[in-house]
Amino acid sequence: MLGAIVLSLAALFLALALVLRQRAGLPWGRIAATDVGVGRPLERPLVAARYRLTGKPDYLIERGGVLIPVEVKPGRQALQPYDADLMQLAAYCLLVEETTGRAPPYAVLRYANATFRLEYRPDVRRRLLALIADMHALLDADDVARSHDDPRRCAACGFRGVCDDALADG
Ligand code: SF4
Repeated sequence: MLGAIVLSLAALFLALALVLRQRAGLPWGRIAATDVGVGRPLERPLVAARYRLTGKPDYLIERGGVLIPVEVKPGRQALQPYDADLMQLAAYCLLVEETTGRAPPYAVLRYANATFRLEYRPDVRRRLLALIADMHALLDADDVARSHDDPRRCAACGFRGVCDDALADG
């Protein structure tokens, strides 16, 4: 009798785990690490020192000995993934590649209404590396022109007190 109860509790927890995983849009595989409070926490950000890149995906799912990054944006609804989100996924793939020595074949992006998959192909990797190089060039430059005309962005920006281009008072 006790055995039957233990078994049915185990089955219940398994069913619950499957439902939660399905709701989160996670691919099947062991959750190796997570940054959102379920499972083993990802204690430190992943670091790719030679690209001066760091970051923490919401989940790392282990499939066949490879870690698959998963990013969940529950407040976002769209029929197509935003390009910036895809580049974020590509950056996580690069971080996994650099920290484990094994490049993920893909990464997963979950919106409130849809799940997308980014294949981590050589052209995606090349595009990401070009983007990282551009970003570092901007960060290293002494003077960078403002890229927008939106005072609200400046009002919410932590640099407005020292920024000569700010459209809002510091
Ligand atoms: S305050 Fe300067 S750095 Fe910040 S958003 Fe505005 S222009 Fe950009």
